[in-house]
Amino acid sequence: MKTAFITGASRGIGAGIVRQLSAGGWRVAFTYLNSEEAAAALAGETGALAIRCDERDEQQVLAASETVLKTFRHLDAFIHNAGTAWTGLVQDMPTDAWDQLFAVHVKSAFLHTRAFLPAMISAQSGNIVLVSSMWGQVGASMEVGYSACKAAQIGMMKALAKEVGPSGIRVNCVAPGVIDTDMMGGYTPEDKQALREETPLYRLGTVEDVAHAVMFLLSEEASFITGQVLPVNGGMVI
Ligand code: NDP
Repeated sequence: MKTAFITGASRGIGAGIVRQLSAGGWRVAFTYLNSEEAAAALAGETGALAIRCDERDEQQVLAASETVLKTFRHLDAFIHNAGTAWTGLVQDMPTDAWDQLFAVHVKSAFLHTRAFLPAMISAQSGNIVLVSSMWGQVGASMEVGYSACKAAQIGMMKALAKEVGPSGIRVNCVAPGVIDTDMMGGYTPEDKQALREETPLYRLGTVEDVAHAVMFLLSEEASFITGQVLPVNGGMVI
């Protein structure tokens, strides 16, 4: 049975990916931080293994990686999805907020990757998908730290794809546009309508839209695709 590990999947896009993978017959493990009840409900619904792990904490990230490898014995797919946003002017951004963003979006992607690669290399197969953002491609005003993290994920993905391609491991990013999750909690209905109007396909994205793109990148149909950014944004960034 194929195995997958997803970070930050108690809610939102990550939970959508857990559901699609489980429905597709994969064995899945995922991390969460605060949403204990949602994580337990998702585990009950899908049979996935829920692991509490603060993705900003190196020891917890390494322990979660070890649990995954011990439980599954091999890992076919690692999907890095955990993340938070910070909105505001860059001159008002505390250093700690910058560091926290980089810890959850970038450092944990590195730490899990480093932990999983030996097993993937010895299997001569594996699949890594980082959930980046269209803001990592083009940058967003008031989200300088977030955009920098999402661009860092794209840079990491490209270099890693070159480094591990010869070992049969593919590495890609999805770059979602505006996806209607809790992360959009600060937006009013009017803000959301304005975003729809800026989007050529005239709607907000869903977690299923992103999960379908991830499923495609993990599939055999994508077996010649590596080092790429797959946008899922309704045409907002072209
Ligand atoms: P949500 O806020 O809906 O969910 C975030 C998830 O990440 C939750 O399951 C949360 O767990 C988990 N998480 C956050 N911080 C940590 C942490 N330190 N350790 C472990 N888990 C953590 O976000 P989305 O689903 O919208 O976003 C998922 C990813 O998609 C993020 O990387 C985001 O940057 C990216 N993205 C989102 C877009 C959007 O429009 N929504 C657009 C482009 C990219 P818990 O609740 O248990 O704490």
